[in-house]
Amino acid sequence: MSATVHNYSTYSNLGCRCPSCREANRKWQARARVRRGAALAVDPSRVQHGRNSTYLNHLCRCAECTDAHTLYAARLRLHRAAAGAA
Ligand SMILES: [Zn+2]
Ligand SMILES: [Zn+2]
Repeated sequence: MSATVHNYSTYSNLGCRCPSCREANRKWQARARVRRGAALAVDPSRVQHGRNSTYLNHLCRCAECTDAHTLYAARLRLHRAAAGAA
């Protein structure tokens, strides 16, 4: 039996969720965020602003995205409080 290398491609292509693959995916996503953040610094118009996903995934900290993230976090807190109370 051949040894399978567990890395980001086994995580994404084969759907493996072993600890090695999860760790590889985590590192890959972190690098991808840094890359997207760097690309955004060069050309801010490449993404849509005013979105929580842009704040999180592209590390954009413009006023619009920060607002969206603050709103999202507040809604999430309310949602969790409501779910916890029920
Ligand atoms: Zn694996
Ligand atoms: Zn933004």
